[in-house]
Amino acid sequence: MVTYLDHAATTPMRPECTEAMLPFLGPRWGNPSGGHALARDARRAVDEARDVVAACLGAEPGEVVFTGGGTEADNLAVIGAVARHGRVAVCSAVEHHAVLHPVEALGGRVVGVHGDGRVDLAALDAALDAQVGVVSLMLANNEVGTVQPLAEAAALVAERSPAAVVHTDAVQAVSWLDVATLTAPAHLVAVSAHKFGGPQGVGALVVRDGVAVEPLLRGGGQERERRSGTHNVAGIVGMAAALAATVEQRGETVERVGALRDRLADGLLAAIPGCTESGTRSTKVAGTCSLLIEGIESEALLVLLDRKGICATAASSCASGAAQPSHVLAAMGVPRALAYGSLRLSLGWTTTGAEVDHALAVIPGAVAQLRERSAVPVLR
Ligand code: PLP
Repeated sequence: MVTYLDHAATTPMRPECTEAMLPFLGPRWGNPSGGHALARDARRAVDEARDVVAACLGAEPGEVVFTGGGTEADNLAVIGAVARHGRVAVCSAVEHHAVLHPVEALGGRVVGVHGDGRVDLAALDAALDAQVGVVSLMLANNEVGTVQPLAEAAALVAERSPAAVVHTDAVQAVSWLDVATLTAPAHLVAVSAHKFGGPQGVGALVVRDGVAVEPLLRGGGQERERRSGTHNVAGIVGMAAALAATVEQRGETVERVGALRDRLADGLLAAIPGCTESGTRSTKVAGTCSLLIEGIESEALLVLLDRKGICATAASSCASGAAQPSHVLAAMGVPRALAYGSLRLSLGWTTTGAEVDHALAVIPGAVAQLRERSAVPVLR
């Protein structure tokens, strides 16, 4: 049995998505930028997908810019806004690297967070002035699941930096929150299909009417000059189908999966001495269980869990494979030694009670086994 508890990394494709994509991997292969019948067919499909994505995100169809995923959408927002207006970028210290690295590369300002992972609004206030051109604050965090006070932050930006645009990375929020309403205060909104049952390598940036960003990719002028490159028609159609299904089922999913997450978190906290939860559960999305386990290294735990059929990750998975403690936990003030023992279990639309039972049966024993090996006593 394989228990998949890594939905924050990527999610299984929804059947509605696969079914919608198949014709575009077969007979409907046209390039939507052309003029003949096959091209027109593809363009209609992209236009219909755009309408669906816009409706689900509370945007107008003309405000949706299709991209090659969440990273590109975030880069387009931050780099595109700065390039357009020549002003300073600001973001929170717990942003995904797709926001944090561009902000740092542009010499921007990074604002601290409280111990629960929510942005320090007083520090944000201090970072805002007339020089600021874009402020990026994610809606939900990928490591801990913390939901940010976007409306309050956007109100501060409007008051202190009225020329600035607000960007929100809603990549981890779509499965769990009413993004159409919650992202309304933002001028720019990034989403990624593979985090909500769609295919990998496709996403979107909502660019509100009247807001301008310089394109990252120039060429054929697709997406009204905002993102050149032939459309990923199958991916875009799949994303729309996955998003529609996600939004339609979101209420039921949040309730069902939230209860499973609570059972998993409470069970592990009770069964593992020296284990605490990072963040505050009431301000986290329903799918994330993020733990700090004393006296172990998460890399070793993940290997043991993998052998026993449990797919999980540390707080953050690093593409380089280097064991770096998470920048999110560090920003939240988690001591370095404890951050090395982080475990992120992220549930999603396919998660079952049997998977939670499996995790509860395996993880406490695996932690005990590692502690025996290193013989580090853990006292309660
Ligand atoms: N933003 C957040 C919050 C994410 O969790 C991720 C993916 O892990 C991204 C951006 C990047 O999205 P993508 O994998 O589509 O490039």
